[in-house]
Amino acid sequence: MNLVEENIKYFRTVLPDSVKLIAVSKTVSQDKIMQAYNAGQRLFGENKVQELQQKQADLPHDIEWHFIGHLQTNKVKYIAPFISLIHSVDSLKLLSEINKEGQKCGRVIDCLFEMHIASEETKFGMDESEITAILESEDYCNMRNISVCGLMGMASFTSDYSVVDKEFKRLNSFFEILKKKYFGNNNNFKELSIGMSGDFEIAMKNGSTMVRIGSSVFGSR
Ligand SMILES: *Cc1c(COP(=O)(O)O)cnc(C)c1O
Repeated sequence: MNLVEENIKYFRTVLPDSVKLIAVSKTVSQDKIMQAYNAGQRLFGENKVQELQQKQADLPHDIEWHFIGHLQTNKVKYIAPFISLIHSVDSLKLLSEINKEGQKCGRVIDCLFEMHIASEETKFGMDESEITAILESEDYCNMRNISVCGLMGMASFTSDYSVVDKEFKRLNSFFEILKKKYFGNNNNFKELSIGMSGDFEIAMKNGSTMVRIGSSVFGSR
């Protein structure tokens, strides 16, 4: 058994059925992705449009590709035909573009709002008021080709458990508020994409439904 296969099997034993493993394959070779695929993994996450397009074209078509990086509006059209979930919606402008491209290819594209919870300035994402403003906008009400399925967030890069725990709790409680206020009878709003190699256990304690794991599956980049 190769190392990637061992890692996939490890995550299968530690993650409950309610938590999906998104194998983050950015910069990873197609050979290594195929090792994960052959171990049964079907959900993969990428953060660069061009790299994703190439891999999508070359690799088996039953892979579900997730986009997890910062997405420029002018590149949405390249992934709209096949993308399974966009985790990183960080503006109304981007959401409108995804809706427009979804309409062109006759799809409803699943999206998550990326929420800024880390203390680092550099991480993308919106705060509570920006997310609320989108949900209350007329533009959003008229979008028929996107479906908002939940929230994504990245915690601060720190080994301090309590900081990460607090940040995930903030995201989780805001998710509950949104669910009650805007998604009362919409069961699609159910995903919390939190947790990476270094903090997925803390994320799981805070209601994660999707963990995005790169280095602990494929090795360090
Ligand atoms: C790279 C990346 C991951 C995976 O990080 P690891 O620490 O390697 O598990 C998760 N989420 C996002 C948004 C990333 O860019």
